Amino acid sequence: MYTFMAQSDLENILINRLEQLGVRVERSVTVVGLDINDAEAEAGQSTYPITITLSKPARTGGVSTELVQSRYLIAADGARSFVRKKLAIPFEGVNNEYISGNIDVAGQLKHPDARSLM
Ligand SMILES: Cc1cc2nc3c(=O)[nH]c(=O)nc-3n(C[C@H](O)[C@H](O)[C@H](O)COP(=O)(O)OP(=O)(O)OC[C@H]3O[C@@H](n4cnc5c(N)ncnc54)[C@H](O)[C@@H]3O)c2cc1C
Repeated sequence: MYTFMAQSDLENILINRLEQLGVRVERSVTVVGLDINDAEAEAGQSTYPITITLSKPARTGGVSTELVQSRYLIAADGARSFVRKKLAIPFEGVNNEYISGNIDVAGQLKHPDARSLM
């Protein structure tokens, strides 16, 4: 059996489940800085050796900066990963030059064969 699910629907399901588990997804927050205190991490002197700098939209307009101390950082920031570059981890594979995107459209056409046109 084959099931097609729009990415936006799947994303909503995952976000709702995360909220049930007490995790809030913050949009428009960008990681702009990353520092790892290797000595502390290896010596176990600090439980939070990673410092992450976040850039987030301020309520009053403009941008505010927030520092987060962390034990772990999961780099799920895509093919152009800021974290990967910051940690000097090479990108292995093919890098395309083109930029592409998806647009979801809900249309109402009167054409009798509308479904095959969409
Ligand atoms: C048009 C298009 C169609 C595709 N179709 C398919 C398909 O049909 N089937 C398939 O299997 N794959 C498809 N892919 C590929 C698929 O989308 C990717 O392989 C997949 O999304 C990669 O997942 P990811 O979580 O690694 O990165 P992403 O989905 O790119 O997620 C990375 C996230 O990190 C965020 N981010 C980036 N930098 C920062 C930062 N500094 N701070 C905070 N957040 C940051 C981004 O905003 C993004 O939300 C398609 C890709 C494109 C572009």
